[in-house]
Amino acid sequence: MTGRILVLGGGFAGLWSALAAARARATFGADLEIVLVNDTPWHSIRVRNYEADLSDTRVALDDVLGPVGVRHLQGRVTGIDVESRSVAYEADGSAQNIGYDRLVFALGSRLARPPIPGLAEHGFDVDTHDAAIRLNEHIARLGADASTVLVVGGGLTGIETAAEMPGKLRAAGVATPRVILADHAPRIGSDMGAEAMPVIEEALAALGVETRGGVSVVAVDATGATLAGGERIEAATVVWCAGMRAHPLTSAFPLERDRLGRLPVNPTLKIRGLRAEFAAGDVA
Ligand SMILES: Cc1cc2nc3c(=O)[nH]c(=O)nc-3n(C[C@H](O)[C@H](O)[C@H](O)COP(=O)(O)OP(=O)(O)OC[C@H]3O[C@@H](n4cnc5c(N)ncnc54)[C@H](O)[C@@H]3O)c2cc1C
Repeated sequence: MTGRILVLGGGFAGLWSALAAARARATFGADLEIVLVNDTPWHSIRVRNYEADLSDTRVALDDVLGPVGVRHLQGRVTGIDVESRSVAYEADGSAQNIGYDRLVFALGSRLARPPIPGLAEHGFDVDTHDAAIRLNEHIARLGADASTVLVVGGGLTGIETAAEMPGKLRAAGVATPRVILADHAPRIGSDMGAEAMPVIEEALAALGVETRGGVSVVAVDATGATLAGGERIEAATVVWCAGMRAHPLTSAFPLERDRLGRLPVNPTLKIRGLRAEFAAGDVA
């Protein structure tokens, strides 16, 4: 094969796609240009965003891509035209275009933020590196007053965030941390299956994390959250970890997406019905 492989996104899926393409190019001696577009200079090890020390959770993309000859463009992808095989992006304040022979679409996902009153203003999250830094700075600023944290969302991200929280609060100066992990579902960790749930519950209990199932948050403010039915949970910090949506640019492809906005792909990750476009990671 000759031509250009264009990878959109430098997360796990995009970075591995670019590196695998570079390995295949070296193995088979193909005449290929490989280009990766990402909106920041970083590959963020997003799965570690719940940690207290985030200093080594980002890797400079140039350090990884440069040595294997993958070109890295820093820019924000704004559109994809499957007909003309071109991608629009913004870089240095100007609109640019780049064509492709093969496309790997890997722009990832975003936390789903429902229109709950107060959530946008007062809620915290660990969806991105910047958001995770903001949460850690907020807790450090509150110090001993950070005593209660409500984590909403009992999936992997919420469980990890809640599990790390007692340690973070103690480090901030809270003598007796209170961490509550709440979810719509009757039990925490229900997505992970019946065998996992008791293990998760035991581990959270050992850490002193309270769990609440069947909870629906209807409002968030600076001092806590209000639940359906009127119950109030006072908490200096509310961390939203409930649900994800695939990147909105999945709408650039002429296909029906699933309830999380993901594209249908075949077993080689080629987007169903298309010839030159692949999707990987949280968008697929
Ligand atoms: C705290 C936390 C813990 C998690 N724990 C686990 C776990 O234990 N196990 C697990 O399997 N999953 C876990 N996940 C989910 C996991 O992080 C995702 O499944 C994974 O990051 C998906 O990789 P991706 O490459 O598809 O997308 P992403 O990692 O989201 O990468 C997308 C990339 O695209 C870039 N980008 C986005 N929009 C644009 C644009 N318009 N233009 C250019 N670039 C753009 C982003 O900057 C990013 O570099 C966790 C997530 C979080 C937040």
